[in-house]
Amino acid sequence: MLYTQFIDGALTASSNRESWINYNPANNNPLGEVSQANDQDIEAAVNSSEKAFHIWKAKTGAERGRVLLKAAHILRSRLDKIALLETQDVGKPISESLAVDVSSAADALEYFGGMAAGVHGEFFDLKNAFGYTRPEPLGVCAGIGAWNYPIQIAAWKAAPALACGNSMIFKPSELTPATALELAEAFMEAGAPAGLFNVVQGDGRVGSMLVDHPRIAKISLTGSVSTGKKILTGAATQMKRVTLELGGKSPLIIFEDADIDNAVSAALLANFYTQGEVCSNGTRVFVHRQIFDSFLMKLKGRTEKIRLGDPTDPDTQMGALISKVHMEKVIRFIDSGKSSGATLLTGGFRPEEDFKGRDITSGNFLTPAIFTDCDDSMEICKEEIFGPVLTILSFDSEEEVIERANNSAYGLAAGVFTNDIKRGHRVIHQLQAGTCWINNYNVTPIELPFGGYKQSGLGRENSLAAIQYYTQLKSVYVELGNVDSPY
Ligand code: NDP
Repeated sequence: MLYTQFIDGALTASSNRESWINYNPANNNPLGEVSQANDQDIEAAVNSSEKAFHIWKAKTGAERGRVLLKAAHILRSRLDKIALLETQDVGKPISESLAVDVSSAADALEYFGGMAAGVHGEFFDLKNAFGYTRPEPLGVCAGIGAWNYPIQIAAWKAAPALACGNSMIFKPSELTPATALELAEAFMEAGAPAGLFNVVQGDGRVGSMLVDHPRIAKISLTGSVSTGKKILTGAATQMKRVTLELGGKSPLIIFEDADIDNAVSAALLANFYTQGEVCSNGTRVFVHRQIFDSFLMKLKGRTEKIRLGDPTDPDTQMGALISKVHMEKVIRFIDSGKSSGATLLTGGFRPEEDFKGRDITSGNFLTPAIFTDCDDSMEICKEEIFGPVLTILSFDSEEEVIERANNSAYGLAAGVFTNDIKRGHRVIHQLQAGTCWINNYNVTPIELPFGGYKQSGLGRENSLAAIQYYTQLKSVYVELGNVDSPY
């Protein structure tokens, strides 16, 4: 398999010979070769995207919406194929890619496809005049993706961008080159003009070329805080618009009156879904001292039952980490937790067999880990680990837990479990986080804005809020009388 660029409606081989092997995280067998885009590819992608932009922006919103809806239908009809590609690329369980990854990409296309005809300005009745606003597209936008939700990230960026009349060049993570190409095919088959959604493959250098390109109007990144800072700095030199969806170290707060079984379910979802490689994960689980022991006992019991193994097996609940390098990074965090005095209650080791007794030593598997006896100042409680590592902390009062939860440079997400409706809202309103849940965790419906406070990002994806990040507002004053001039 050769993963190449998708430019101007077709797969194109790069004239540059630089390439690398893409590996399956579950066994480290090669999946194929990825060809790195060079500057000629980027130039070709920008030229084709500009051409498509001029065709696309002249269409009505309803016409654009129809293409997005058709692309969503195509993705859904290829669910099995795309979910398998995602599972092989990312290492996540097939049950997840079937239930979430492809369908949330299709959800975004349907939501913004349905909304495209409704993108509109406002009318202002003025004295002897009137005014109106026009939300106009920005032009060629670039999307740069992380490796944990490849098709979802591509669609969350493309859907609002295209609905608003822009075109997009998308660069997937170098570790997950496959499914953005499926999205590009779907757009073409749905009737999009060639070049409306181009895909360029490559590492951070290709991302940088997109950031620096003078004919690219906007950058939308999903990635780490350090990459976000580089992109923001690069974009500032040309005053480009940016949307940054970055990392987090989010708090999940469980009060003493919470439904414990539901809270345990949420803590598991908030830490172990997609092997813990989720930006919004609630990795700092604060549990009220009164229920700490019973919560911990249930959490440990259910964690140890998680079925870890071959991601393509429909019964598997936890797959493999994205790469050996990443797995080693997660193991270093686990070692840091142990040496800083936290107790590793369960997991955190490389298993030899999966839940069906199959040898998994060649894959990047790590059993789900719970650290107790933690302190807020420990590295494992401060840094984003992006792996299956949960830290549990006790607290005594509402004021105390709010202060500790907010004591982070990040602010992506937060969750609160309580049966006291007043306390639930009161606490959530004081948490410094952009995406919050009361009595659930990590549910991200397309209707709600998604994004972070503080160093977790800028701008929002999903929902009506995304429209403002892919349009610029023109205001028009129309005179109905004479020009009132003193000259
Ligand atoms: P990285 O920041 O390493 O990479 C993100 C993307 O940026 C990749 O495509 C990468 O290319 C590219 N890139 C790297 N350097 C540059 C550069 N200088 N200029 C332009 N582009 C560049 O993140 P990961 O892929 O490792 O993803 C994990 C991170 O993503 C975590 O911090 C996680 O929290 C965050 N994330 C945030 C989400 C959110 O919505 N808030 C959702 C999912 C993940 P390449 O990979 O090829 O090097």
